[in-house]
Amino acid sequence: NTPLHELDPDVAAAVDAELHRQQSTLEMIASENFAPVAVMEAQGSVLTNKYAEGYPGRRYYGGCEHVDVVEQIAIDRVKALFGAEHANVQPHSGAQANAAAMFALLKPGDTIMGLNLAHGGHLTHGMKINFSGKLYNVVPYHVDGESGQVDMAEVERLAKETRPQLIVAGWSAYPRQLDFAAFRRIADEVGAYLMVDMAHFAGLVAAGLHPNPVPHAHVVTTTTHKTLGGPRGGVILSTAELAKKINSAVFPGQQGGPLEHVIAGKAVAFKVAASDDFKERQRRTLEGARILAERLGRDDVAQAGVSVLSGGTDVHLVLVDLRHSELDGQQAEDRLHEVGITVNRNAVPNDPRPPMVTSGLRIGTPALATRGFTAEDFAEVADVIAQALKPAFDREELGVRVAALAAKHPLYPTL
Ligand code: PLP
Repeated sequence: NTPLHELDPDVAAAVDAELHRQQSTLEMIASENFAPVAVMEAQGSVLTNKYAEGYPGRRYYGGCEHVDVVEQIAIDRVKALFGAEHANVQPHSGAQANAAAMFALLKPGDTIMGLNLAHGGHLTHGMKINFSGKLYNVVPYHVDGESGQVDMAEVERLAKETRPQLIVAGWSAYPRQLDFAAFRRIADEVGAYLMVDMAHFAGLVAAGLHPNPVPHAHVVTTTTHKTLGGPRGGVILSTAELAKKINSAVFPGQQGGPLEHVIAGKAVAFKVAASDDFKERQRRTLEGARILAERLGRDDVAQAGVSVLSGGTDVHLVLVDLRHSELDGQQAEDRLHEVGITVNRNAVPNDPRPPMVTSGLRIGTPALATRGFTAEDFAEVADVIAQALKPAFDREELGVRVAALAAKHPLYPTL
């Protein structure tokens, strides 16, 4: 029972340094968030010791009476949160949730449609060297070059031409809402399943601030650690009709023992997500993104060749277009890192630069909203980012402004 600092000072030092990094910088990676201490406590519990292959009430191991309670709470809460008929809370991650959902609905060689990776899709939506690209015949759809929005006419045309077995609607880097009803109409017309991957916007859905895909889709997958703000993990929601297929695709199809300690963290996060505080936090998340889009869309920023893709945002992130800037994505990411703001570079549609460099940035507000940022704070962050992306910028002055914002909203003060 030796504490970590004594048993393994090397790992402890790196953990401490990471806590300090999170506390002293501004986290604006759109897929990241800060899990509540209670979630981390559940995750760091003795549940990590327990094997529990199977599902509550039907396990292949003895001694599951307490983890059964935890897993059933998680299932009941997430079903209520999103209005789903069935939930599987065992996928270890978003990618595993997508793999299991596809295994449940498809056979190798079937055709799937997904948003192209360079246009904002995820690796698991059909990227060539991902399992999804290797197992299935992938027909990618795209965003329209003019509007920056998913081209639904192309989705319909490709679906009719290629008759996919599955259409995936969802994204990792897209600043607008999808028309789930239109996706379902197209899926029905060609006899395809509709799977919505709401990993990015699940927190907004839970708060009632984004359309809910559950009534429209056969299957909805999500991560639990992005806008939802819980532990790192995945969930699959489906109709009651598909419940058996989904469960057996997760276990024994894809995974062995579930991570019951993480499932406990998920259960806590779903409780938090049903609260008024969570709603208010998601409201500030959206407000922050809108402020960012508005301030990065101003004329003085445009003069530096920087603009906002699709002209704004409906969600928790902004995509910055650097195709006409003297900075590429890597340089812009590095420059913001230098002043204490963490973002990630991101390909823009028809990006002239290679994927390791890119001509864009993805900037998100969930983590700062969790930290307590208000409209006024987001305006200040937006102005710091705008300054940093201009040719003449004062690194030191911007660093001081970032440090002041971090100090104003202490993170994990009790850790
Ligand atoms: N789906 C979407 C839309 C994502 O953006 C991501 C992660 O970025 C995933 C799935 C995969 O989640 P994980 O990283 O937990 O495997």
